[in-house]
Amino acid sequence: MADKFDVIVIGAGPGGYVAAIRAAQMGLKTACVEKWIGKEGKVVFGGTCLNVGCIPSKALLEASHKFVEAKHDFDDLGIQASDVQMDVEKMIARKDKIVKNLTGGIAGLFKANGVTGIEGTGKVTGGKQVEVTDQDGKATTYEADNIIIAAGSVPVEIPPTPLTDDIIVDSTGALEFTETPKRLGVIGAGVIGLELGSVWNRLGSEVTVLEAMDSFLPMVDGAIAKETQKLLKKQGLDIKLGARVTGSEVKDGEVTVKYSDGDNDQEMTFDKLIVCVGRKPYTQGVVGDGVGVETDERGFIQVDDQCRTSVPSVYAIGDCVRGPMLAHKASEEGVMVADIIAGHKAEMNYDAIPNVIYTFPEVAWVGMTEQDAKAKGIEVKTGAFPFAASGRAMANNATEGQAKIIADAETDRVLGVHIVGQHAGEMIAQGVIALEFGSSAEDLALTCYAHPTMSEAVHEAALAVEGHAIHMA
Ligand code: FAD
Repeated sequence: MADKFDVIVIGAGPGGYVAAIRAAQMGLKTACVEKWIGKEGKVVFGGTCLNVGCIPSKALLEASHKFVEAKHDFDDLGIQASDVQMDVEKMIARKDKIVKNLTGGIAGLFKANGVTGIEGTGKVTGGKQVEVTDQDGKATTYEADNIIIAAGSVPVEIPPTPLTDDIIVDSTGALEFTETPKRLGVIGAGVIGLELGSVWNRLGSEVTVLEAMDSFLPMVDGAIAKETQKLLKKQGLDIKLGARVTGSEVKDGEVTVKYSDGDNDQEMTFDKLIVCVGRKPYTQGVVGDGVGVETDERGFIQVDDQCRTSVPSVYAIGDCVRGPMLAHKASEEGVMVADIIAGHKAEMNYDAIPNVIYTFPEVAWVGMTEQDAKAKGIEVKTGAFPFAASGRAMANNATEGQAKIIADAETDRVLGVHIVGQHAGEMIAQGVIALEFGSSAEDLALTCYAHPTMSEAVHEAALAVEGHAIHMA
């Protein structure tokens, strides 16, 4: 038997590495087990988020957005930039460098906080036991008073479009294209599909997004979703709703996708196809037989509101449990669980988790949509403000979009904030704080905002709840 720990965390994504650091900061002897093999053939920390998720996708979104701005928008600003070209390989190399810096940084954070990083595949073999198998197949068993499973998730594959090496790819493959595909198909108009579709659309691909559902972004307020769809269409994304993919054929370096649009069978041919139909928990084999940790039929580890599993000393957090698959949700659960293990009282407010789609403009939201509230029988009042009326948005050359606030008609309490517009992902923090502090729309309306800022749209939307927006006729 090897070392004994107070806490062993399985998985070093944003759930696991944050939980491990917090536990160590609370004075607990902590280890974190990770098996992810990076591009250089060595184990790296950071999970999906740092290696193939949040960060690399944002590196490509930023580069491609700057390219479009330089190519199409600079002229408006009086900047002359002729013959703007994108070097795709250089863009990918920059993304890889950022990933390397960040994943290497986690190892530094572990060292600084006294977390023991263990390389290998972890398996819970008892309520207080973790077996780790290293790359050479050698197994070592560690004891721990508490175990946190943070095994994350992997992309869902669908039978009609089995992945190939380089034509039908998942989100990870779409971060590695070395040249811009001429015709790109994306299956799934969710967050990841829209982001990756945007990257390659900006670089010149003709992008078609096939979405099985009839509604676009149903989790976003209807008015904001409608405007987003219009803006993305204007940029060239051909989003086909109600398009259920039924098959595919790869031939001569291209893929023909068959889909049904409800009335007819259709087909389209692409040079590359990205399958972005969601992610599933990565929990197979993480818990040994007979340990007693329960999973549901989809593989999610079952937990209560404080991430306790059915075995008292075992917790689970992040993408491998219920709730939105988001890095910040995973991290906050990690902090909560580490605090609980350290003997503190801790909980999370699952009603105040922000969501962002990093398209241009960004879409961000927290809390209820107007439609959600009405479906729950809550009477609401709403206020919206278009960026077209914002002085800062005009100065920024970013007048598309709007901010919308949904408040309880009786109490004025803010129930939701939904925004489409430049920097919506930054602005949404105001909505999160409003929900977290139980603010009224009037609290936001009576707050002094800096001028000129994009955030003033949130202020004006709050004023608009009572019909008193200043800069709107
Ligand atoms: P993961 O990050 O998946 O980490 C789990 C880790 O556990 C992995 O490193 C895995 O190797 C390890 N592991 C699993 N099993 C074992 C085992 N048995 N032994 C040892 N190690 C194991 N979220 C956002 O909030 N914002 C974004 O902008 C965003 N963009 C995204 C873009 C893309 C393209 C993708 C794919 C995802 C994106 N996400 C985003 C989602 C985000 O990446 C995840 O929600 C987040 O990484 C979940 O964190 P986690 O710690 O639960 O799991």
